Amino acid sequence: MSRFFSERYSRLKAYTPGEQPKDTVYIKLNTNESPFPPSESVLDAVSREAGRLQLYSDPECRDLNEKAAGFYGVSKNQILMTNGSDEILNFAFMAFGDENHPFAFPKLTYGFYPVFAQLNRIPYKEIPLKEDFSIDVSDYENLGMNIVIANPNAPTGLLLSLDEIERIVKTNRENVVIIDEAYIDFGGESALPLVDKYDNLIVTRTFSKSYSMAGARLGFGIANESLIADMNTIKYSTNPYNVNRMTMAAGYAALCDSDYYKKNCETVMENREEAKKALRGLGFSLTDSKANFIFAKHEKIGGEELYLALRERGILVRHFSLPEIKDYNRITVGTKEQMDSLISAVEEIIK
Ligand code: PMP
Repeated sequence: MSRFFSERYSRLKAYTPGEQPKDTVYIKLNTNESPFPPSESVLDAVSREAGRLQLYSDPECRDLNEKAAGFYGVSKNQILMTNGSDEILNFAFMAFGDENHPFAFPKLTYGFYPVFAQLNRIPYKEIPLKEDFSIDVSDYENLGMNIVIANPNAPTGLLLSLDEIERIVKTNRENVVIIDEAYIDFGGESALPLVDKYDNLIVTRTFSKSYSMAGARLGFGIANESLIADMNTIKYSTNPYNVNRMTMAAGYAALCDSDYYKKNCETVMENREEAKKALRGLGFSLTDSKANFIFAKHEKIGGEELYLALRERGILVRHFSLPEIKDYNRITVGTKEQMDSLISAVEEIIK
């Protein structure tokens, strides 16, 4: 830390992203990326747009917003496109949190939520999960705080039903409820149909997982128009050109190609269920993940030991050292071949 660093941030514990190693070519099952490349038309759109990089991007994202509005059945003023969904989440913390409007979220969830709260000096409450890692919905009813819940949750992959989400939104009408649907396309039911019914609900989405665009950085929020207007005030006060030209064009083309991505999600779900079965057969216990990752622990090998042994064999998974989950690994679901390699490596390790 330099002697110039603001006192305000001196105790901030920044988010640690998963490794993106350059030394070896790994089978990368550690950051929940899609194992499939973007569609051809996305590649064409990006290269076309690259020729116009001398011009700023459209701060209003008009074409993409209109396309997404049609696709998700909302009005274009109910959408805000951002630089990954991390950015819309930060905008929401900034717009709706302060000393008098704290945030609550599960104790075990996406590690960025406490960072956003600390960054913006918003008090927060971490609500413990049940023993089986599930969320107790009654903990969130009439809570009287802003709430953010990843559905499915990370790193457990456990899903709440639409009814359960509605109970939370309905009983916290004086607070904002953010449902982070980064992984909803892998088998969950979206809360988007509730957006017109509840003016306190924000649904966030990303193109990083189901749309094979983690490297492009595109996410968005859908909510009531006035919540979107508030978050736009934050956006225009930080970075009006937050989505670059190539990413905007890529997002538009991806939505035009939704059949391709839907099929990829189905493949990921099939591979997930097969891998779960194989891992159970090898002595793992796992959550019933409805995301593009598996959360598993072995009865005999510690989480870190397995992570290191897989790494030695060229397979990267994600291990978290938090005491509650140190026995587990989060394994991104890849192609059938990648999952077969994972299973073979695991068989060899536990032998
Ligand atoms: N929410 C959750 C639950 C996530 O796991 C991630 C991925 N790290 C994000 C949001 C952010 O993804 P992105 O910024 O790539 O859209």
